[in-house]
Amino acid sequence: FRSAVPLPHIPDDLSIPQFIFRSEYPGRPTRPRNTPLFIEDGSGIVTTYEQAHYRAYGLANALSIKWNIGPCSGYFAFTISHTHTGTKDYATVIWAVQILGGIVTPANPNYNAEELQHQLSVSGAKFIVVHSGCLSAAKKASDTCGLSDNFLLLIDKIVVPGNLPSIPALEDAISFGWSKGENYGAVRFKPGEARKTIAFLSFSSGTTGKPKAVAISHYSVIANVIQMAAHYRLGDPDRSNRTMVPGDVVLGVLPFFHIYGLVVVMHYVLYAGASILVVPKFNFADFLESLISHQVTHLYIVPPMCVLLAKHPAVKGRKFHHVKFCMSGAAPLGGDLMAQMAILFPNASIGQGYGLTETSTTVSSLKAGVRMGTVGSAGELIPGIVARVVKPDGSLATEGERGELVVTGPSMAMGYFKNPAATAETFVDGWVRTGDEVVIKNLEVFILDRIKEIMKVRGFQVAPAEIEAHLLLHPSVSDVCVVGVPDEYSGELPLAFVVPTLEVLSLIKRGDTTENDVKQAIAKHVSDAKIHYKWLMGGVEFIDAVPKNPSGKILRRILRDKANTMKRSD
Ligand code: AMP
Repeated sequence: FRSAVPLPHIPDDLSIPQFIFRSEYPGRPTRPRNTPLFIEDGSGIVTTYEQAHYRAYGLANALSIKWNIGPCSGYFAFTISHTHTGTKDYATVIWAVQILGGIVTPANPNYNAEELQHQLSVSGAKFIVVHSGCLSAAKKASDTCGLSDNFLLLIDKIVVPGNLPSIPALEDAISFGWSKGENYGAVRFKPGEARKTIAFLSFSSGTTGKPKAVAISHYSVIANVIQMAAHYRLGDPDRSNRTMVPGDVVLGVLPFFHIYGLVVVMHYVLYAGASILVVPKFNFADFLESLISHQVTHLYIVPPMCVLLAKHPAVKGRKFHHVKFCMSGAAPLGGDLMAQMAILFPNASIGQGYGLTETSTTVSSLKAGVRMGTVGSAGELIPGIVARVVKPDGSLATEGERGELVVTGPSMAMGYFKNPAATAETFVDGWVRTGDEVVIKNLEVFILDRIKEIMKVRGFQVAPAEIEAHLLLHPSVSDVCVVGVPDEYSGELPLAFVVPTLEVLSLIKRGDTTENDVKQAIAKHVSDAKIHYKWLMGGVEFIDAVPKNPSGKILRRILRDKANTMKRSD
């Protein structure tokens, strides 16, 4: 299955910063150099293309002079982590590193030291740019990985408390960079090199196991942006057919560390010449206020935000006529919610988009020019994506038949970084196995189920393997299986089916402890160590044995069905 819309040429000799700052790219909407790229909510501070260019190249010079950072000979990675997506400098850091040929591994700011350490060690990151709010976790993780304090840079300028080392700030680094003569050699790719050069290491668990670093090339990101631009007719001679035009304002509520915020919001929107309103952490009251005060035109959101928009008393009876486009992605959105969005946003196109970290985001997206997406549809395949639906017996499904979605196209990631075994399972001869069960009708993708293990909690991936490995360290747990239970707001919530140890069972039997206390202690074991969306909010249940096949593989579906039945009988 493939779109009939022609795919324009995708350059394979440009880095992402060259692509973003090169205004003359054919088909790209023209916009004045002083168009705002970022508007900081609250302060209202605007960053134009010119200023963004100045900041990124100044920082690149400083990184090159002070920290001797250059094109990746070995693997030179960076991590960015801060409490807010609300800073234009998220992009400054990304582009500065990539100008030099470095790799960025964006981290979740709420990660604790253990989670960050996993990311640092898997990615091999050697330099950390961090917001002061995350400094202590970043410092702990970098100490454990043996990184020197000289390789930390603060994205905000603060007075560092006495117990922490004094760390240079980004603003000073930019000024330093500009006070010196140009030292860096910006990477220049030969034709084809952008396909082979890693730009991002973004984390995903894929179809099974713990989170892995997905190697995403410069070319894949550029391709996905051009594919979306073609799908949404950004180059249409008739301006009224274009889905986004310079002057439009996009509310940047999605975290930039996730591929959806990183590629769709940051890079596609900037390519289109629209402005991103960067806001601190998502908070519904502020979200509404920003929506109105900046007359936001485009929303890229996730289903829990749609639930709030549909149900929150603060929006009852209101309409937002300025919104022209509202897309939900990362997890399924029901028809009822879509209908309620249509009432709130009477002038908007409303629907879903679908993609994966492994495909550098978008595979399918709401059809261009329609008022409402088809109910249950995760959108139409975008130009350049070729999709197959593979039935359980390995044969190809025809239109309307269900099977696993397998896709290819220019935006496919390169594989899992330094993990050939996992790469071989998911990236097969240039095709990506999505682990999603779908049917395709009229080029629209309808997601029916997830064959892979991951849960999606508020749009974030949760890998059962990661929680299970952690739970097995608890003294009361002899075996465990974690599954997702449906939840209206979060989509899914993690639930642990635990086989308790014989010791704990006899303690319960003797009355020395209660089943409830043991379950609470097990849940606390997760919440003490992991980011909030991985907590066992779906509960802890005791079982006699985890169902497994003869080779020891967990038969997860049996417990998923059991969890769904329990949920229904609640
Ligand atoms: P991630 O790599 O974190 O973006 O997760 C990708 C996975 O999210 C996909 O394989 C799907 O299982 C799920 N997903 C993304 N978008 C949608 C959607 N619109 N509807 C249902 N599931 C989705």
